Amino acid sequence: MAKKKKMKTRVIGLSVEKGGVAKTTTAVNIADILASNGRTVLLVDMDHQGNAGICFGIEEEDVVEKNISQVISGELELKDVVIEIKDNLYLAPSCYELKEAIAKLQHGKAREDRLKNALKTINNVDYIIIDAPTGEGLVIDNVYFAATEIIAPVQMEALSVKGFKNLLSTVDSYREFNPEIDISGILLTMFNGHLNQTKKLLNELKKSEKIWKHVFTTTIPRNVSLSEAQGTGLPVSRYAPSSTGSKAYISFCKELMKMEEYND
Ligand code: ADP
Ligand code: MG
Repeated sequence: MAKKKKMKTRVIGLSVEKGGVAKTTTAVNIADILASNGRTVLLVDMDHQGNAGICFGIEEEDVVEKNISQVISGELELKDVVIEIKDNLYLAPSCYELKEAIAKLQHGKAREDRLKNALKTINNVDYIIIDAPTGEGLVIDNVYFAATEIIAPVQMEALSVKGFKNLLSTVDSYREFNPEIDISGILLTMFNGHLNQTKKLLNELKKSEKIWKHVFTTTIPRNVSLSEAQGTGLPVSRYAPSSTGSKAYISFCKELMKMEEYND
C-alpha cells in the first residue's frame, strides 16, 4: 500500500506591531477551522492577556499553574501545558505571568529561541499557530525566531503603502537569525471595499508587484458575529456558522490549505 504523504509542519505567527487588527480573532478562528478540516493544530498563545484562551472559554484562573510562561522560563515542557480543545485542536494557553517570564529572560542567555526550542519537542502537528502580542521586543523575537511563516492581519484604514513595505521588511530583518521565515501573506481584516480611502489604497498597492503578491485573495469583512463570538467561548464557525465572518475565515483557510507542502 502506498505510504500516506505527511504534510510539512507550518509554524505560523500572527504578528503585526499594531493592536486591535484581528491577530487573535484570526489565530483562533483559523485554528478551529483547520482542525475541523482534519489538520492537527496547536495554537500557542504568546500574549500575556490570554485572549486566545478566552475565545475558547478558558479563563486565566484555569491555567495559572500550567501555561506558556513556565515553558518560556524552562520550568515545564510544552507538552505539559497543552490543553485539548476539541478533536485535532490543542492550545498552549497564556496568562499574565508571561510578562514576568519574558522580563526575567532579558538578563539570561539563549533568550530569543526559547519558543523555537519548545516547539521542537512537539511532533505530529500539521499547524502551529502563534498568537503574538501587539508591539515588539523579546516576546516578538521569540515568535519570529520560531515561525516559518508570518501572517500579518491589517486594517486598510490604518495603514499606508509605506506601512505595507515595513511589514515585509520586518520579516526580512529576521531572516539572518531564522532562514526559514517568510511572509505567507497580508490579510485584509475588517475590510470594506466601498470606502473611497480603501479603494485608493488598493489601487496603489496593486501597482507594487512586490507588495501585491503577498496580499491574500480572501478579505475578512467587518462582522459583528466575530466580536460577539469572543464573549461566548466559541469560535465564529461554531457560534454563527452562516455569518459573513465565518464564511470569510472558511475561505481564508481554503486559501491557506492550498499552500500546504508535503514531505517526500
Ligand atoms: P488583536 O489581537 O490584533 O489586538 P483582536 O483579534 O483582539 O485584535 O480584535 C480586536 C477587536 O476587534 C476585538 O473586539 C474583535 O472581536 C474585533 N474584531 C476582529 N475582527 C473583526 C471583524 N472582522 N469584524 C468585527 N469585529 C472584529
Ligand atoms: Mg490579540
